[in-house]
Amino acid sequence: NSVIQIQDLKKIYRIGDQEIHALRGVSVAIHEGEFVAIMGPSGSGKSTMMNVIGCLDKPTSGEYFLDGQAISQAHDDELARIRNHKIGFVFQSFNLLPRTEAVENVELPMLYAGVGTKERRRRALDALEAVGLIERIHNKPNELSGGQQQRVSIARALANEPVILLADEPTGALDTRTSMEIMSIFQRLNDAGKTVILVTHEPDIAQYAKRIVRFRDGQIIEDGPVLDRRTAA
Ligand code: ADP
Ligand code: ADP
Repeated sequence: NSVIQIQDLKKIYRIGDQEIHALRGVSVAIHEGEFVAIMGPSGSGKSTMMNVIGCLDKPTSGEYFLDGQAISQAHDDELARIRNHKIGFVFQSFNLLPRTEAVENVELPMLYAGVGTKERRRRALDALEAVGLIERIHNKPNELSGGQQQRVSIARALANEPVILLADEPTGALDTRTSMEIMSIFQRLNDAGKTVILVTHEPDIAQYAKRIVRFRDGQIIEDGPVLDRRTAA
C-alpha cells in the first residue's frame, strides 16, 4: 500500500516569458513505514518536490495520489485541509511561534483541525513525551536550545497524526551531536511505523534513512536502499 504514488510529475515555473523546468517527469512510489532521504545538488528540484508532496504547491502535470486521494486536481481549500490532516512538516528553522509556550505551539495544528481543548492538551503532551521534552512544555522557544526547539516542532508535526512526516533539512541549523539526537528521534518514530521523508545535503544525515532518492536537473537519477544504516547514536 503506497502512501505516495507519483506518476510523470512535471513542474514548470513561468517568470515572464521564461520557463524553468523544476521537475521533468518524476515517478516514484513511497510505501507506509518507509524512511526516505531526498538528496541532490542545489537547484535539482528537491524543494519543489517537497512542496508538491506536502500539498503546498500543485504540479504542472502528472498524477499524485496521497493516501489514495488524487491531489493533482484538488482545489486550494481542499489542498489546505489535506495538508493539515495528512502532513506533518519539520523545517530547518523550526518555525515556532516565538511568544508561545512549547505545548501551545504543539496544539496549534489541532486548533486549526477543530480538536477540542482537552483533547488538544492530551495529544500535545503525548507528542512532547514522544520527543523527550515533557519537562519543558511551558517554556517559550527562546528559552529552549536549538535541539529542544526542533523537538517541539517534531511534536507539532505529529499532533494531527499525519500519514507522513516531511522534514526539510531538519538538522541544517544544529551542531553534529544535536543533529544525531534529532535523527535518532526520526528513526524511533519510523521504527514505530511512521512514514518519514527527509531532504538533506548531508550524507551522514541521509544514512539514518532506509532509502535514498537522488535528484539532478529535475529528475530522479538514483533510487536505492541505504546499505550501511547506522544504529542510533
Ligand atoms: P533544490 O531544492 O534542489 O535546491 P528547487 O526545487 O528549489 O531545487 O529548484 C529547482 C529549480 O526551480 C531551480 O532552478 C529554481 O531556481 C527553480 N525554482 C524553484 N522555486 C521556484 C519558484 N517559486 N519560482 C521560480 N523558479 C523556482
Ligand atoms: P534550498 O535550500 O532547498 O535550495 P532554495 O533557496 O532553492 O532552497 O529555495 C527557497 C525557496 O525559494 C523555496 O520555496 C523555493 O521554491 C523558492 N525559490 C527557489 N528558487 C526560486 C526562484 N528562482 N524564484 C523564485 N522562488 C524561488
